[in-house]
Amino acid sequence: MATVQVERRELTLAEKLYIPEVVRGLVVTTRQMLKNAFGKKDVATIQYPEVKKVYPDRFRGRHRLTTREDGTVRCVACMLCSTACPAKCIHIVAGDRGGADVEKYPISFEIDLLVCVYCGFCEEACPCDAIRMDSGRHPLPSFSRDKQRIHKVQLLEDGVRSIARQGGEGT
Ligand code: SF4
Ligand code: SF4
Repeated sequence: MATVQVERRELTLAEKLYIPEVVRGLVVTTRQMLKNAFGKKDVATIQYPEVKKVYPDRFRGRHRLTTREDGTVRCVACMLCSTACPAKCIHIVAGDRGGADVEKYPISFEIDLLVCVYCGFCEEACPCDAIRMDSGRHPLPSFSRDKQRIHKVQLLEDGVRSIARQGGEGT
């Protein structure tokens, strides 16, 4: 097979100094800065926190746990969410609920948000509509990793009542 030798072109002095490219970059930056300052129509930046972005309905935000009509947590500690979780960031300790209908409940329910990849597999896997990611909220920033591990109390703070029937049917 024939090979083709390609001669490498020598760079000019201006190219070696990168001056035209630096000037071109400055022109682009200045043009965008002036556009942002005076022609605000196409500015993509949102003036947070005064202005908040409206997320689409399917946005997967911070997790929350739902409750039954009597206010108890819907989760039955079946571990399906933690089994489906690819990041292994859900940790549940199950307890005996002592009732005939529902055997178990989560004594503790922890999600490490720094490990979570927001895939939504946990809510897909849940047969009880007990965990949702429709809070519309971002995880908040923090100065320590511990603060990013959210527990049952925090998960229930955002919680809503669900009247879905056990097994995923209903509304
Ligand atoms: S969103 Fe995905 S990674 Fe995060 S807790 Fe749920 S299953 Fe795990
Ligand atoms: S899958 Fe649903 S019911 Fe089962 S442990 Fe997870 S949140 Fe609870």
